[in-house]
Amino acid sequence: MLTFKEFAEFCSSLEKISSTLEITAKIASFLRKIDDDSDLYNVVLFLMGKVYPSWDERELGIGIGLLYEALKIATGVEKSKIENLLRETGDLGIVAETLIRKKKQLTLFQEELTIRKVREIFDEISSLTGEGSQKRKVKLLVDLYIASTPIEARYLTRLILGEMRLGVGEGIIRDAIAKAWGISSELVERAYMITNDFGRVAIVAKNEGRKGLEKLKIQLHIPVKMMLAQVAESIDSAIREMKKVGVEWKFDGTRVQIHWGNGKVTIYSRRLENVTSALPEIVDEVKKVVKGEVILDGEAVAIKDGRPMPFQHILRRFRRKHEIGKMLEKIPIKVYLFDILYINGEEIIDKPLKERRAILESIVEKSEKITVADQVVTDSVEKVEEIYNQALDAGHEGVMMKNLNSPYIPGKRGKNWLKLKPVMENLDLVVVGGEWGEGKRSHLISSFELACRDEYGRLLRVGKVATGFTDDELEELTELFKPLIEYQEGKVIKFRPYYVFEVAYQEIQKSPKYESGFALRFPRFIRLREDKSIEEADTIERIAKLYESQFKSKRL
Ligand code: AMP
Repeated sequence: MLTFKEFAEFCSSLEKISSTLEITAKIASFLRKIDDDSDLYNVVLFLMGKVYPSWDERELGIGIGLLYEALKIATGVEKSKIENLLRETGDLGIVAETLIRKKKQLTLFQEELTIRKVREIFDEISSLTGEGSQKRKVKLLVDLYIASTPIEARYLTRLILGEMRLGVGEGIIRDAIAKAWGISSELVERAYMITNDFGRVAIVAKNEGRKGLEKLKIQLHIPVKMMLAQVAESIDSAIREMKKVGVEWKFDGTRVQIHWGNGKVTIYSRRLENVTSALPEIVDEVKKVVKGEVILDGEAVAIKDGRPMPFQHILRRFRRKHEIGKMLEKIPIKVYLFDILYINGEEIIDKPLKERRAILESIVEKSEKITVADQVVTDSVEKVEEIYNQALDAGHEGVMMKNLNSPYIPGKRGKNWLKLKPVMENLDLVVVGGEWGEGKRSHLISSFELACRDEYGRLLRVGKVATGFTDDELEELTELFKPLIEYQEGKVIKFRPYYVFEVAYQEIQKSPKYESGFALRFPRFIRLREDKSIEEADTIERIAKLYESQFKSKRL
């Protein structure tokens, strides 16, 4: 049986390597040496900083506050001191290690932690709910810390926080499993897309090899990675490539995968989180209007007076775990189904789209809350344009053009689905604040707070941008912005407004979070507009207009 110490020491050895090839090879040989299936399962997940696969509803529910509390009790060190240490190192794992090291000099005896024991405690922690559960969690954490050596404390802490800082992501785990048992990475990838659980994939690879992985099938109530779309270059080129296209509206909502069978309905979000409890009326409706045991793919749209409501409303519904009744009235949801992956024990992802659609149409009885998305098959550019304009007029995003002969390829962003939507114009915004990065980026300012202007020249915040920068750009920007720091509190910085960033984004949302009343969805740094002064930055009026234009007719 594997001890947690062996695992922790292995993790520590990985931290010294920077070559991904070498990391992959080391993980492969480590995995190969594990006999026990459950140890293998846990190690694979733990290496990625996961305790459960993403679709599993269980979660530890341990925030930084509980960790402070547990560390304080286990080591007798005050919270303020722990916070100071964290500020210095930027890594609670290292802090825990340091504290436990100091404390351990006094401890004589301790029982060895095994991987299995850690799993048992995690499972117990995640099963706790309701009154007294926080206390019990802290108690279990304290036991864990007391039983750990310094190095174990480092990785336990990081694992609980979901951040191992080993640079081991899904790609490395996939390649390591492939290498460990001499299987192609493509096959391991496919098995993962179907099971969404690298732990399970590793066990099958170890015990049954290539043949076992090939046999893995989609299962009811275990989510499958969703097929994704690429951006269409033009309607013309899409039709040239596919001959005939299946055109559907690109609905402005959020993706749902619905599993119905064995008497229950489970609904997963695009990130494969279980969102069933947020959508009780859809669960009931599926039971009423869908025939057979099936896995369906579609888009859930929040609709009011026949028009889609801004995207954020539906996300709010997903986050909501309580008072669902009230939300039902405020945010009615309609699901548009556009694909089917499985029916009555049979996986049908390899059938061409036109056959899958025929099956889909035959098993769904159209209702107010659930319907099969209309699809028009055409080779006419004008027809696609017409549908595109209808979709925008109805407040949706654009259209999807789909290859009627294509299989459903889980997790694939391929050429068989092409999306066409208006591109939002970039905004030029004033940088008013920022935040220091974490870990390797702790010496860099790695996110920037942005603001627009109002008619009086006041600056109103609209969001933060933390993507779209190269490391070199961040170095440069950090140097550039350092002299503008007005004050800092922890990692948060306030700048004297001076520079303007050009940012791209996907959507403008209404938001109470910022004083502008708006927030940018997925903002992305494009460039520093040194040529623009802050007086030339975009105004709140322009943002309000762009916001409105998202719901009216959007044009290319
Ligand atoms: P994007 O998020 O821009 O990459 O576009 C892909 C997303 O569009 C999918 O994940 C779905 O959530 C959404 N979508 C809306 N309507 C459709 C449709 N008719 N077919 C496929 N995806 C759709």
